[in-house]
Amino acid sequence: MTTNGHTDGVSSGKAIETRLFINNEYVSCKSGQTITVKNPVDDSVVTSEVQVAGPADVDAAVAAARAAFKSGPWKSFTGLQRAVCMNKLADLMEANMDDLCRLESIAMGQPIVVAKIFIGLSISQWRYYAGFADKIGGDMFPEDGDGTYKLVRYEPLGVCAGISAWNGTHVFICWKCAPAVATGNTIIFKSSEKSPLGALAMGKLVVEAGFPPGVINFISGGGETGHLLASHMDINKISFTGSVQSGKKVQQAATNSNLKRVTLELGGKSPSLIFNDADMDMALTQASQGFLTNTGQICAAASRTFVQEGIAPKFVEALKEKFEQFVHAMGDPLAPNTFLGPLADRIQFDRVMNFLEQGKKDAQLLTGGGRHGNKGNFIEPTIFLDPPKESKIYTDEIFGPVLVVKTFKTEEEVVELANDTSYGLAAYLYTSDITRALRVSANLEAGSVFINGPFMPTINTPFGGLKQSGNGGRESGKHGLMSYLEPKSILINMTASSKN
Ligand code: NAD
Repeated sequence: MTTNGHTDGVSSGKAIETRLFINNEYVSCKSGQTITVKNPVDDSVVTSEVQVAGPADVDAAVAAARAAFKSGPWKSFTGLQRAVCMNKLADLMEANMDDLCRLESIAMGQPIVVAKIFIGLSISQWRYYAGFADKIGGDMFPEDGDGTYKLVRYEPLGVCAGISAWNGTHVFICWKCAPAVATGNTIIFKSSEKSPLGALAMGKLVVEAGFPPGVINFISGGGETGHLLASHMDINKISFTGSVQSGKKVQQAATNSNLKRVTLELGGKSPSLIFNDADMDMALTQASQGFLTNTGQICAAASRTFVQEGIAPKFVEALKEKFEQFVHAMGDPLAPNTFLGPLADRIQFDRVMNFLEQGKKDAQLLTGGGRHGNKGNFIEPTIFLDPPKESKIYTDEIFGPVLVVKTFKTEEEVVELANDTSYGLAAYLYTSDITRALRVSANLEAGSVFINGPFMPTINTPFGGLKQSGNGGRESGKHGLMSYLEPKSILINMTASSKN
């Protein structure tokens, strides 16, 4: 099955790239370690050859990125030239959409329909940031009063690194790499050990798009490789997407090494507030289909649903029916009509199953609650009713198709309930009263509030979290761009006398 770092593609006949992509070349790792990726549909081995970047490999990637930043052709690229490469890369992703989708599906079980949406968003985001590449200006303040003429330049930081979770690889690649290169930085991106194939496939597209060597590098590995990046003395910025627990370690490693800049995009336990006057069909669709997208493995998933008492009995009954219907849309993620796939891997499956066992002791199980089928990592769409506030299913991010539902009486009560969490990534509310919608959205502690609609990140708005859902800036939109730039003040004393 394996030759020279390529593994035969499952069911496509196409080779799967498993080597590291450093300095515009695919190379085998020096660490001698590999990762095995299993298809979560049936635990069959997709490849056991994914190369793991150890210390020497990370050093090689950093050296390539540093050389590209300091002295390579990239240094003299104009903004327009950077944009040309970025737009070309977006075109190539579009042309290779089917392959990129398939790699996500076979590695972490993402249904093709979902992968297409995520990769489509990524392509748009690459183009969005390409548009900025030749429009990064500066500021000027006149010598009014103090006799000093002031300039502010916005300069690239240098060598950046991205580390990502597995649930939307290409979204994380574009959120980190696109603003980094639009602003003239270079970057090393480490994908998740659960889903490394899509990132590695991007290497050849990067070359074809015309990026010079060392500008964008893709490496694979687990937490140890991530730590090598976070603690590296020659990396200027790290942008991390993953759990709160790992994010804190990244922050510590960055602090204990060279105080590199850190952006953290972490977990969530986002509330959905459904008022008596909500459009019932829309709220039901979002609490079921919206929440179950990517099999509940979305950081901003509305995993705590609060329903106002007047509609609660009817809503809960209809929601149960919807969840039970979705069992029929569960299956092989490669099939075009599959909406629910398996969980990403056996570790994630076991983690969610533990929550289910605990949840059954703590709360009323409305539907689901177990494994679906007898192979692979499928879990039934599950609803728990009225869990106690201190129960794990209510407080912790489960990251799977498991919803908790509580009822509420008043707006004040539900805002209190919604904010009573250590997370603050997203919030959702459903009401036909626009005044209430605006009042409540102002009172919710969340980085994004979605009113009468589903979770859908947009390319021009910032995405990120309050409290323990994030720190150090936002991704997406122009805010995402600014966190790859360092302002430099240049102060000219206009009163200094001229020699002539
Ligand atoms: P994780 O924290 O286990 O791993 C994320 C990444 O960090 C992986 O690449 C992993 O190899 C790496 N890593 C692990 N330990 C590390 C360490 N000590 N130093 C450096 N890197 C390390 O998270 P996960 O299970 O892959 O992803 C799920 C989590 O990600 C959930 O909490 C989810 O909410 C969150 N997430 C957040 C966003 C967002 O934008 N806010 C988006 C997607 C996922």
